This record gives sequence, C-alpha cells and structure tokens, in this order.
Amino acid sequence: VKALTIQNPWAWCIARAAVDPEAKTIENRGWPTAYRGDLLIHAGRRVDTEACDHPLIMATALRWSGYPRHPAPAWVPPWEQGVGAVLAVATLVDDACGRRGMGCRCGPWAVPGQYHWRLSNVRQLAEPVPARGAQGLWTPPPEVEAAVREQLAVPA
Ligand SMILES: [Zn+2]
Repeated sequence: VKALTIQNPWAWCIARAAVDPEAKTIENRGWPTAYRGDLLIHAGRRVDTEACDHPLIMATALRWSGYPRHPAPAWVPPWEQGVGAVLAVATLVDDACGRRGMGCRCGPWAVPGQYHWRLSNVRQLAEPVPARGAQGLWTPPPEVEAAVREQLAVPA
C-alpha cells in the first residue's frame, strides 16, 4: 500500500468523501502515477491556512457542521485536528482524464493543467493514525499500515 501526504484542509476534505458525496474525490498533482489501489490519505503537519476560505472547503465544512439545520456553531476547524496522521484510505482508480485536466469532467475540485487523481471508496478512520509524512508516494511503516488495517476491519 502507498500513502500520500496532503496538507489540511484538503486531506480532511478527502476523508469527508466517505460520507459526503460532494467532498473532494480528485487530488490534483503535477505528476502522473502508475500506482492503482489503496492509498493512505495522510494530513501533513502544516495547515494550508490560505485554503481555509476556499469556497469548496467552506461548503464542505458547512455540510459537516450541519448548517443550516443547526445555527452556525463556534466550531474549531476540524482540519486542525488529526494533522500529522493518516485520516482515511481511498482507492486510487485513475490519474488522467485524457487531456491533462483541460476541459475535462472531473468536477469542481479538479484544477486545470494538473493530473487528476481520481479517488473512490473513501474510508475515514475513526482514529487518525499518527505518521511522519514524506514527499511523493511513500510506503508507510508496517506498524502504521497495521493500525490502519485494524480499523478498516472493524464494521462501522
Ligand atoms: Zn480531469
């Protein structure tokens, strides 16, 4: 299995795709990959604070918060928790849409000019698994993979 370190709030938005069909299922990368299969979604230690008012992230956070069913709460941004940890497992099914992201149908999360890594079957971990991140696709240490698999084996 491989892992990918992604800054929050982006990694959190992928984890939300486990229950929110409008959450992030496209990971934009400047490089293609031949890897297919399960991918551990690891939130880096640093939060991309400039992205926190991105409209797609705001909308994902509002759906998460239950707004407008509940009044807007004074919530701690959920992406400030679980940093430096594996948040979810997704299946990487594809990394290209034919035109390197120009005029494709990958949806609102896709950035033109990037490779669109399409993620499906997102499973959010109840307990984020702490791990050191790395550049590119990396192989998680056995104890991290074991801790993730243990959670996946538990029926939700
Ligand atoms: Zn695309």
